[in-house]
Amino acid sequence: IDFVQTNQLAGTKGIEDQPEVSDIQKKKMSLQETRKSLPIFPFREDLLQAVEEHQILIVEGETGSGKTTQIPQYLYEAGYCKDGKKVGCTQPRRVAAMSVAARVAQEMGKKLGNEVGYSIRFEDCTSERTVIKYMTDGMLLREFLSEPDLQSYSVMIIDEAHERTLHTDILFGLIKDIARFRPDLKLLISSATLDAEKFSDFFDEAPIFRIPGRRFPVEIFYTKAPEADYIDACVVTILQIHVTQDAGDILVFLTGQEEIETALESLTERTRRLGTRIKELLILPIYANLPSDMQAKIFEPTPPGARKCILATNIAETSLTIDNIIFVIDPGFCKQNSYNARTGMESLVVVPISKASANQRAGRAGRVAAGKCFRLYTAWAYKHELEENTVPEIQRVNLGNVVLLLKSLGINDLIHFDFLDPPPHETLALALEQLYALGALNHMGELTKLGRRMAEFPVDPMMAKMLLASEKYKCSEEIVTIAAMLSVNSAVFYRPKDKAIHADTARKNFFSPGGDHFTLLNVYNQWVDTDFSTQWCFENFIQHRSMRRARDVREQLVGLVERVEIDMVSNKDDLVAIGKAVTAGFFYNTSRLSKTGGYKTVKHNQTVLIHPNSSMFEELPRWLIYHELVFTTKEYMRQVIQIENSWLLEVAPHYYKAKDLEDTTTRKMPKNKGKSRAELGDH
Ligand code: ADP
Ligand code: MG
Repeated sequence: IDFVQTNQLAGTKGIEDQPEVSDIQKKKMSLQETRKSLPIFPFREDLLQAVEEHQILIVEGETGSGKTTQIPQYLYEAGYCKDGKKVGCTQPRRVAAMSVAARVAQEMGKKLGNEVGYSIRFEDCTSERTVIKYMTDGMLLREFLSEPDLQSYSVMIIDEAHERTLHTDILFGLIKDIARFRPDLKLLISSATLDAEKFSDFFDEAPIFRIPGRRFPVEIFYTKAPEADYIDACVVTILQIHVTQDAGDILVFLTGQEEIETALESLTERTRRLGTRIKELLILPIYANLPSDMQAKIFEPTPPGARKCILATNIAETSLTIDNIIFVIDPGFCKQNSYNARTGMESLVVVPISKASANQRAGRAGRVAAGKCFRLYTAWAYKHELEENTVPEIQRVNLGNVVLLLKSLGINDLIHFDFLDPPPHETLALALEQLYALGALNHMGELTKLGRRMAEFPVDPMMAKMLLASEKYKCSEEIVTIAAMLSVNSAVFYRPKDKAIHADTARKNFFSPGGDHFTLLNVYNQWVDTDFSTQWCFENFIQHRSMRRARDVREQLVGLVERVEIDMVSNKDDLVAIGKAVTAGFFYNTSRLSKTGGYKTVKHNQTVLIHPNSSMFEELPRWLIYHELVFTTKEYMRQVIQIENSWLLEVAPHYYKAKDLEDTTTRKMPKNKGKSRAELGDH
C-alpha cells in the first residue's frame, strides 16, 4: 500500500527527549517506580489540595497520564476512605472497569474484589471491604435506585467523561443535583483533552485541573487512494511496518470482534507462510467479550526482538493505555448505534469516525517516543468527509432504558431534566410512547406497577417485559435462557474461515422449528445436558466462553426474576407460549413478508431482510419478530422468531389494530432456498 505523509500531530516533547525504544523495553521498573513515572505524579499534592478546596473539579489530562489508575489511589492514601466510605470511579466500558480495577489492585498489593473491586452488569466483584470501586456508568445509574444520595461514597469520579455515553450524560444531571444536598460529597469529572470547558460550564464554573501532557510528535500518513477492503489493507500495512520499520509495537483499530477475528486469522496465516523470514510478531486481540485472562495479555511486555501487534476496538482509543505503541493503524471506522426517531428503528452500523477520534487514535502512537500513524483513508477524506466531533450518544440512541430508570427515580419531568446536551424532542417522545405501549407508563406518563417491576432488570425495556411476560405464559425457565443467550447472541457460533463448511453444518444441526430464539434455547439446553462440557462446545463450533457468559447472565436473571416473585417454571414444548412471551416484549420489532420475498416492518414499512445466518433464512414465515437490526450492505434482522399476527392483538392491543395486521400475501411465497450465501451477501 502506498502512503503519503502530509502532516504531523505536534508533540509537547522534542525528538531530543526521546528514549531509545530498546531502552523502554529493557527498563524493568517496579510497580511503585512505574506509578511515580506517570505524568500525573508530580501533581499529586496539588490535585489533592484542589479536591480539598472544591466540591466539584474537572480533571483534564492526556490519555495515559494516570487519571484512572492513580487518582482513586491518591484519594485513598489521603484518607477519603475513612468511616467505611468509598471512592467510586465510573467507566463507560466494561472491559476498562475490569482491567483498571485489576491493575490498581495489583499496584496496591491487594486481591481483586477485596479493597479494590469492580461492578459491571451481571457481575459484581466487590465485597464489604471494598473502598475503591470501579464500575460502568450504567451500574452507577442503577445504584441510584437503591441509594439515591450515594451515601456510601465520599468521592465519585465520572471518568472518561469525554466519551459522552448516554449513561455518563444522565449521570451528569443526577450527580449535579446530589452535590447540592450532599456538601460532603466530592465530585471529579475526568476527561481526555477534550470538552473540559463545556463540563466546567455545566457544573457551575467548576475549576479545571489540567495535567500537562507528555506527548511526542506523531507523523501522519494517508493512503494515496481509498482502500476497498480495509481489513485486508490493515493486514498488509501491519506486515509492511513489521518488515520495514524499527522496533515498536503496533496498535490497530477495528470495529468489533468479528473484524478482529477475521484480521487475526488472515494475519496468522500470512505470518506462518513467511515463517522465519520475518521476526516474531505477537498478535493480540482486545474487545469487550474477550475473557479477562486474554485481555491481560496485551499489557505483558514484548519479548526482546519480537514485535507486538494489538488488534483492538475503540476501547484502546482512550479507555485503555497500552505502553510502547509506536505505530497506529487507523482504518477510520467504528461501530455505532444508530437510531431513527421517526421509525423507532435501532441498528448497529459501521460508520466513519470523527476527526477528534482520529486524532485521539493517532495520539496513541506518541506516548513513549515519536510515532507514526497510518490512516487507511486519503487526506482528502479526512478533511472533507469526517465530522469534527462524534455526536453524543444521547442524541442518537433509543432512550427507553434511561427514561424508565429516571421515572423510577421519581423524575417525572424529563423535558426539564438538566441535560448537558438535550436529546432530540422526538426521541424523548418516542421513548415515552414505547414505554406506554409496553405498559410501563400510564396515559399520564406515570410509572405503572409493571413499569416498576421492569425497572428491576438491568436490561432494555423490551427484554424486561419479555421476562415479566413469562409469568403469564408459564415459561420462565425458557425465557430466562433465551434472554441470556440473546445477550451474547452474535458470539455463540464459531466460524473459522478454513472450516466454514463444517461450522455451518454444525450450526444447522441446532436449528429448531420456530426460529433463532428456539435454536439458541436448544444450544443452551444441549450444553446443560453435557454438564457444561468444553469439549462439546469445541466439537460443535460453539464458543465456550460465550456459553459461560450466558450461564452467568442466566444465573443473575434467575435471581432478579425471583426477586420480582416470579416462579421458575418450565414449559419446554409449548412453542406458542414461549413465542407469545417474546412477542409481549418485542412486538415493536414485527415485520411482515412482502410480495417480493423481502420483509417490511409493520408500522413503518421499512424494508428489512433475514440475516443469512438465521435458521429462518430458508423458511420465510409470514410474520416474524426480530431481536436486532444490523446494517451492513442492507438492513438485516438478526435473531428472528416466527409468530402469528393474532398474538400481536393479544399482547399489544394498545399498539396494534386489526387493520395493521392484514396479510398482504395470499399466494405461496418465494423461498430463499438454493441461493448461496454469497449471492445474498455473506455477512
Ligand atoms: P489515563 O486514565 O490518564 O488515561 P491510566 O491511569 O489508565 O491513564 O494509565 C496509566 C498507566 O497505567 C498507563 O501507563 C497504562 O499502561 C497503565 N495501565 C493501566 N491499566 C493497566 C493494566 N491493566 N495493566 C498494566 N498496565 C496498566
Ligand atoms: Mg483513563
